[in-house]
Amino acid sequence: MNSFFIEFRDPLFGIIVFFVLVFVIAFFSYWLGRYKKQEDYRHLDKFLRQFRTLPSQNELKVLITKGELSEKSWLHLAHSYAKNGDYEKSIEIYNELLNVGDKSSYRDTMFLLGRTYFKAGFLERAKQVFLEILKNNPRTPQALKYLLLVYEYMREYTLALEVLEPLDELHKDIECDRVYLQVLSLLNDVTIPPEVKTQELLSIYRKTNYLTYMIFEYLFRVNPKLAWENFDNSKSELLIDILWHVDTKDLDLDIIAKNGYLRELYTARGDIELASKSSVFEFDVMIHLKNRVNTTLSFEHICDGCKHVFPFAFNRCTHCHAIDSSRVEFSLIKDYHRDLSEENNSFQ
Ligand SMILES: [Zn+2]
Repeated sequence: MNSFFIEFRDPLFGIIVFFVLVFVIAFFSYWLGRYKKQEDYRHLDKFLRQFRTLPSQNELKVLITKGELSEKSWLHLAHSYAKNGDYEKSIEIYNELLNVGDKSSYRDTMFLLGRTYFKAGFLERAKQVFLEILKNNPRTPQALKYLLLVYEYMREYTLALEVLEPLDELHKDIECDRVYLQVLSLLNDVTIPPEVKTQELLSIYRKTNYLTYMIFEYLFRVNPKLAWENFDNSKSELLIDILWHVDTKDLDLDIIAKNGYLRELYTARGDIELASKSSVFEFDVMIHLKNRVNTTLSFEHICDGCKHVFPFAFNRCTHCHAIDSSRVEFSLIKDYHRDLSEENNSFQ
């Protein structure tokens, strides 16, 4: 026992104990630090996961019922979801707000719900919502306008035309909508033969002077001869993409020869040689190249109302719902179609 105490008091033993203690403390603090770091990462992962996964319907129900966020904040959130294309989540929020929200803003929330149904393509549900709004508040032009759009998308043109009456009573400008719906109804009626449709379209055009692009697109497609006979020279630029795609055999050279713009257009395309230059840059380049380089025109359509750009022609803008607001812009591009047909010919 004595010998043990002597060794315990030995300075060397004290140094060993000191180093062991330092090692143990260093070891524990290292592991503690590592564990804490891992916990931090997990916490951050958990925090970020909330933004990747959307709350379920039940979670939303609880959150909205709790009332921690104002109704306005929920409306902003629903609007953001819809803007990002998550219509389902947006619809869930609107539906829940209709159940528990402020009754004074019930009609506004109903309208937002109907509009989201419409944008998401649930036309039948959108129709029910707008009809419900109009049942209690018939003088709501916004709901009437959307109901008209719903009927138009559902191809219920007679019902859409009926919606114009209350809009007219509310002193809204409905003339363009009326003509547009009449033309749509005519074009989609399979019982009317094309020759009757073309005559009726021309009669509508002469009376109203609306929907030049829509009417002449059909005329040039179905009866190019009649389209040229009724062609309005002042509309050449508006119809440039239609004119550019008219088949060579369907060109009316008498009319083209009398119109400077058309002479330059078809000289640029290589059908005739009636212009040596053009004030339009794209035509001028193509006239000077004389078909030696594979170039053609590419078209895009811009809505004058909302400035949205579409790669295809439209008669009613899908973004702002304006009618006849399309403006065509064009640029020079490589003619891949000609490249391809030359390649195919070289294999023969
Ligand atoms: Zn637009």
